[in-house]
Amino acid sequence: MIREQPVVAIYPGSFDPITKGHEDVARRSLRIADRVVVAVAQNASQTKGNLFSVEERLEMVREVFQDDERIESCHFEGLLVDLAREMGAQFVIRGLRAVSDFEYEFQMAQMNRELWSEAETVFLTPDQRYAFLSASQVREVSRLGGDVSRFVSAPVLRRLERVSEE
Ligand code: ADP
Repeated sequence: MIREQPVVAIYPGSFDPITKGHEDVARRSLRIADRVVVAVAQNASQTKGNLFSVEERLEMVREVFQDDERIESCHFEGLLVDLAREMGAQFVIRGLRAVSDFEYEFQMAQMNRELWSEAETVFLTPDQRYAFLSASQVREVSRLGGDVSRFVSAPVLRRLERVSEE
């Protein structure tokens, strides 16, 4: 089959900060998409207690993926499906860790389908090293002075260290 248009996927999240689990999922998504847009949500993390501003989160995403031009990034406010439509994306990528992610992710996928039936949500599982990793744990461990170097890339580690020195 000859495709005329590139396959574009959107990978949304709060990425506060981006972890190696997120990175793994974004890079894996290139197995099904020609391009992936990591979309940093301005509103999705309100309840989580942000550590980094959306600009800082986006900057870290850019630094982490600067080696691969197929991985782009942007920030968004409002409905994911509006962004997906605007970007001409056919897929929404979400990561699934433990079963505990399932209920929420399932509901969100159904709702997004109601809002825009043309996009499919695709769930990817990370490398098992990251199967229990969350950004909130990284924030917490780092805040308490623990070593998170296994869980985040160098640009993120630098920022976390800077924050804890403040
Ligand atoms: P977190 O739950 O770590 O705060 P986000 O809200 O930024 O992360 O989540 C964005 C997406 O990335 C979600 O689909 C989430 O399930 C997924 N994700 C987060 N961490 C991992 C991980 N370690 N492995 C796989 N997927 C992950």
